[in-house]
Amino acid sequence: MFAGSAEIEKAAEVLRAGGLVAVPTETVYGLGANAEDPAALARIFQAKGRPPSHPLIVHIGGAEQLGDWVDEVPETARRLAEHFWPGPLTLVLRRGRRVPLEATGGLETVALRVPAHPVALALLAAFGGGIAAPSANRFGSVSPTTADHVRAELGDAVDFVLDGGPCQVGLESTIVDVTGDTPNVLRPGGVTREDLEAVLGIQLAVPATSHIRVPGQHPSHYAPNAKVVLVEPADVVAEAESAQDRSHRVGVFLPPSLAGTPVKAHAVVAVPESPAVYARELYGFLRELDQRGCDLIIASLPEEKELGVAIANRLRRAAGPRGA
Ligand code: AMP
Ligand code: MG
Repeated sequence: MFAGSAEIEKAAEVLRAGGLVAVPTETVYGLGANAEDPAALARIFQAKGRPPSHPLIVHIGGAEQLGDWVDEVPETARRLAEHFWPGPLTLVLRRGRRVPLEATGGLETVALRVPAHPVALALLAAFGGGIAAPSANRFGSVSPTTADHVRAELGDAVDFVLDGGPCQVGLESTIVDVTGDTPNVLRPGGVTREDLEAVLGIQLAVPATSHIRVPGQHPSHYAPNAKVVLVEPADVVAEAESAQDRSHRVGVFLPPSLAGTPVKAHAVVAVPESPAVYARELYGFLRELDQRGCDLIIASLPEEKELGVAIANRLRRAAGPRGA
């Protein structure tokens, strides 16, 4: 199943020729192009239907290459890179001159990461340069965590798909801006705030989160076709059954506290007790409920600590207003 050296060499060729390669990483599958080729970068935005003002993450082969891509490496960035790379942490730093503005959405900062996946690292070594890659899905939809997800969603828009099996983390990387005096978490992900604080020996600001019922604060992203509604865990069964009675085809995310409870609904997903397993499976569950024809998904938020913060962030955005 895993891509071998022949596929990796072919993928490196595609990158050199200005093509697009779907790359397995531990977070999600990326849609990769040569980070120094503006025409190839333009094809990423076209394939995804993503506005060119949204910056990409530049993937590099090792922490020792960090200095090649940025203007300067602050001490905090060096410590985080040494500790967490390869891994699900993206660092935002001042852009070095070799990074084209097409990779940064026109910003003077660049997002960098070393992925912890043997196929991605082998490709980076074979290619030799940086690979700019957002998630390999259409803009706004659910990120792919298997090679089949990529093929189903992007089809011919991607020149070559490297299969590296299912992603082990399953959620996008944590993004930390290290250009200022104190690190700023821009997106929660596979590396938790608690992990970062332990390494840096400082407390980080907790980003504000809205109450689950407040609309408008979380523009739709990571969203399946079915509408997602978040309710309190104790209300999941009643809300699901009432919507099913109103002729919805309801998919239910049954929280671990209600495991085994019978629910009258179109499809039921048992939410795993372990946050790491839930994170790994979340996007697959959303895709599965779409495939089974659900038009409404009733879910609740997990406890917002450690990995639960990133899971809750993605669920809120899946439930965010559409067309935003
Ligand atoms: P994706 O993995 O598809 O969500 O795309 C990469 C993510 O990295 C996006 O959410 C971007 O907003 C974020 N990103 C990339 N570069 C920067 C940057 N220079 N500053 C802030 N965020 C960035
Ligand atoms: Mg994305």
